[in-house]
Amino acid sequence: MFSKILIANRGEIALRVIRACKEMGIHSVAVHSTADTDAMHVRMADESVCIGPPSGTQSYLSIPNIISACEITGAEAVHPGYGFLSENANFVQVLEDHDIAFIGPTSEHINTMGDKITAKETMRKLGVPCVPGSDGGVPTIEEAHKVSDEMGYPVIVKATAGGGGRGMKLAKTKDDLEEAFSTARSEAKAAFGNDEVYVEKYLTLPRHIEIQVFGDGKGRAVHLGERDCSLQRRHQKVFEESPSPAIDAATRAEIGKTCAEAVAAINYAGAGTIEFLYENGEFFFIEMNTRLQVEHPVTEAVYGVDLVREQINVAAGLGMSMQQEDLVPLGHAIECRINAEKLPQFQPSPGKVLAYHAPGGLGVRMDSALYQGYSIPPYYDSLIGKLIVHSPDRPAALARLRRALDEFIVDGIDTTTPLFYQLLDEPDIQTGDYNIHWLEKWLENIE
Ligand code: ADP
Repeated sequence: MFSKILIANRGEIALRVIRACKEMGIHSVAVHSTADTDAMHVRMADESVCIGPPSGTQSYLSIPNIISACEITGAEAVHPGYGFLSENANFVQVLEDHDIAFIGPTSEHINTMGDKITAKETMRKLGVPCVPGSDGGVPTIEEAHKVSDEMGYPVIVKATAGGGGRGMKLAKTKDDLEEAFSTARSEAKAAFGNDEVYVEKYLTLPRHIEIQVFGDGKGRAVHLGERDCSLQRRHQKVFEESPSPAIDAATRAEIGKTCAEAVAAINYAGAGTIEFLYENGEFFFIEMNTRLQVEHPVTEAVYGVDLVREQINVAAGLGMSMQQEDLVPLGHAIECRINAEKLPQFQPSPGKVLAYHAPGGLGVRMDSALYQGYSIPPYYDSLIGKLIVHSPDRPAALARLRRALDEFIVDGIDTTTPLFYQLLDEPDIQTGDYNIHWLEKWLENIE
């Protein structure tokens, strides 16, 4: 086992990893920018190193600075959290060159899944159902017409190098295709320096369902069911739950098995998420994330596992403790992502936290790096906490969520907490009848 792990991240996810390290008797090293000197992850780690000025590119994204921090502290492994360098194949390669372990998959797997066409081709070959679309890149408008005519409209033109919802354009009819094609290409060129695009059938009312997988890197893998992350604003998830109100045990077992077999076949190591759009009882692969997800706690709650501990064990060569037959979902978990933002426009609301009280009690988990007196810096993501509740069933989880929100106090800054009270009052949320467009439409109507 490693004796020292460096966490190349900040905020609640850095705390999440430090907590696992403490429980495993591993020394933890925090890194921080000059804006984060007083951050909770710095206080909670066994040691800390300043790696640069506030700007993320000069600190949390600076590979040389993080490597130096490893060398200064003698860290043997790096946990990347999510975001920042977590899906950067070059970072993994540089760590390898310095004999430092990366707690995650190989650079090759990160590369394969980072390119959307290669990811889709790989998954299709592994028997994972994909959205119907072009075979690879579509270089000309003539070819885009041909593929779209065959498939039928609406279609969506997507950037091969895409991410964060950019470089994606919808063509509702044949008349829209030329514009969608040229805009997607120029957006992709500007955002990713690569104008390759492909065409997919556009699904009109799908849910976003993702399967948590975990591999030991040696041909064995398991799945831990699904998370329903359909409630999104600007392609950002807001509220996640497991199990999905739309999936039954037989469907879960079938898609889960397909996904676990696919990652086992490529000797995938560590945690991964296979994302699907789900419509009319059918799954369509859209992408794979080769890291721990923000919403991993809902899976931990219903399956009773510690995914970070498993990640560390696999990276240290100790294998994974999970066996598929032991992984039985229990009850229902919901996560709310609480942001320092002012409603109804969601403007970032950094500043000093004058009072803070975290909810607690049975079945409540609050993952947050806030404390009273802390000043939230304006340079980073606005996520300040994840409130996760777990109960025997969905109605009880919704009731527990409302109770936990009542206990949550943050003064001095605006947060998105009021949004969740309003959502809890909605009949569609109470019954679970929503899709990926539901939240955007609802927000338009309440504004
Ligand atoms: P990114 O990597 O940029 O986030 P994804 O491929 O994961 O892109 O897609 C992001 C979101 O865009 C999906 O969650 C869904 O809302 C929408 N989307 C993507 N592909 C399709 C499709 N074929 N049909 C309908 N919506 C889609």
